[in-house]
Amino acid sequence: MALNRAGDTSLLLGPADVPPVREYNADGRSPFLLTCDHYGRLIPRALGDLGLPESELVRHIGWDIGIAGVAEMLSQHLDAHLIVQRYSRLVIDCNRPPHVASSIPRISEATTIPGNEGIAREAKEVRRAEIFDPYHHRIDEVIDARRHNNLPTILLSLHSFTPIYAGIARPWHIGTLYQRDKVLPPLLLQALRAEPDLVVGDNEPYAVSDQTDYTIPVHAEARGLMNTGIEIRQDLISDQAGEKAWADRLARIFAEIEATLRTQTILPA
Ligand SMILES: [Zn+2]
Repeated sequence: MALNRAGDTSLLLGPADVPPVREYNADGRSPFLLTCDHYGRLIPRALGDLGLPESELVRHIGWDIGIAGVAEMLSQHLDAHLIVQRYSRLVIDCNRPPHVASSIPRISEATTIPGNEGIAREAKEVRRAEIFDPYHHRIDEVIDARRHNNLPTILLSLHSFTPIYAGIARPWHIGTLYQRDKVLPPLLLQALRAEPDLVVGDNEPYAVSDQTDYTIPVHAEARGLMNTGIEIRQDLISDQAGEKAWADRLARIFAEIEATLRTQTILPA
């Protein structure tokens, strides 16, 4: 379908809706570029509440609880550029290839999403054009600009996971998620395992794949950038003290990793 992207032809986001993309510390000098696909849980006014009560919209099915605060503080601590997407993953999941069924889920965990049932192809295309595409185009642009300016880029894709999924309790405090990068994930795993109080997931609770992920395969792996996904358990970052503790811890760990990469001249010394 031909969507005219020039001019004010928005079919989904109206004047009362905020843009999907928000950026923090865009002039940050860190080699780490932070992304947050499930940062927000806004719903475009035109979609109402997707047929769900507030009690469902605030659950993990709607967004990555707690990660917003961690991401913002980590961006400050590392002096790193952070790019986030503010609409709920129930509107369109910005870490799914748009052609897979879970991109605009009919069911998430055990909750049926009435506003996504029987959705027309054109309506899917509009969600993609107005939320998914601007976010990923912006990440592309930023990586291109960094390359142009000879700034190295290491992508950190920040997420959080629910402590109990489909009745199963998850033991990990944090997980490192990866697929093709053989440099950064082992360094991160080693650093996390050196923390005496942590249960660390190695590609748990999820692993990255081309079928279930978008940000890492498309922006990092396809460009040959070092990268990792990070998943923090949501009950550990359910308040500001928890968010701060995890931002502080990750800032310390990534500063050490950056120093290691410079010593090994994987990054310019
Ligand atoms: Zn997520």
